[in-house]
Amino acid sequence: MRPSEITQLLAGADDPGLFSAADALTRQNFGNEVFLRGVIEFSNHCEKNCRYCGLRRGNRRLSRYRLDVPDILACVGLARDLQLGTVVVQSGDDFAYTREDIGRIVTGAREIADVAVTLSLGDRPEADFAYWHALGANRYLLKVETFDEALYARCRPGLLLSDRLSRIEALKKAGYEVGSGLITDLPGMTPEILAKDLIRLSDLDLDMLAVGPFVPNPDTPYGDEASGSILTAFRAMAILRLLNPLANIPSTSALNALRDGAREQGLTVGANVVMPSLTPETVSGDYAIYPGKNAFRADAAARVAAVRRAIERVGLVPSTARGNSKRKHHG
Ligand code: SAM
Ligand code: SF4
Repeated sequence: MRPSEITQLLAGADDPGLFSAADALTRQNFGNEVFLRGVIEFSNHCEKNCRYCGLRRGNRRLSRYRLDVPDILACVGLARDLQLGTVVVQSGDDFAYTREDIGRIVTGAREIADVAVTLSLGDRPEADFAYWHALGANRYLLKVETFDEALYARCRPGLLLSDRLSRIEALKKAGYEVGSGLITDLPGMTPEILAKDLIRLSDLDLDMLAVGPFVPNPDTPYGDEASGSILTAFRAMAILRLLNPLANIPSTSALNALRDGAREQGLTVGANVVMPSLTPETVSGDYAIYPGKNAFRADAAARVAAVRRAIERVGLVPSTARGNSKRKHHG
């Protein structure tokens, strides 16, 4: 697809055609199955200061928490009991957890449950990636957020797009299934930037691709900016599906933060993955990336059950499989 075609689709030139083509391709490659990933948000401390994110170090209004390794592994036990095929171990960029601490989480998780282990720990040293992979970590999520250098530098002060991209390459080399993604409607993002971002993201030939709409958080410098458009996020997801037929594409919780039910609707426009939170309810409300994140304060089992029901409501089937990458570089 040419950038001008993508820009037109993002502007709504052919929504029925776009959405039905993306859905048909998803059904062709994944049937009616939706993969579930249980997310363990183990720390909301962050040394970075991304202007869009509530976990940024400059946010003094957030009550900070850290889970210890046994508590994190208890969440993995829950994932096993709930028959989830993947756990995603996520945090702010919190270097209080050493490479060995993360190693203990990976080893422990592999002992407890037959699950795929995804890490989402931010900008860790490249040397650590191989260490964790050798211990059994399977996947790593590192969103670029945008490929526009100036916008990236404005949104993530002091950080360089080139560093994020070289980490993505290092993760591929280390043997991970790699995921990345974008925030649509980031303040300053134009339709032309988003069109280029979708092309560059697809050019990376990754296993997992996430696009979520920007959700303003009042405790950040972007608190007064407009919410991202759900429709634009849906169009971006559908375009990504057309460009990446075999990639795992989640329907993000940011969609649901903007409109209850939008996340399951995303499963009908190209997405094939949902990522319910397994974070203990004592702290899950403090993983406040944006308002509405983890707003549903039931215990994790009830949350997963609700997600399974939501998947069924749109006529799809919650899978208990690991949902490994189908892209050909993984055989
Ligand atoms: N610290 C790690 C990192 O940045 O890669 C992982 C955790 S971070 C909270 C996970 C993702 O949250 C980011 O990649 C970003 O896309 C998303 N995020 C943060 N603030 C957001 C906002 N206001 N709206 C939508 N997504 C947001
Ligand atoms: Fe930290 Fe990630 Fe939030 Fe940036 S997006 S402030 S790195 S948690």
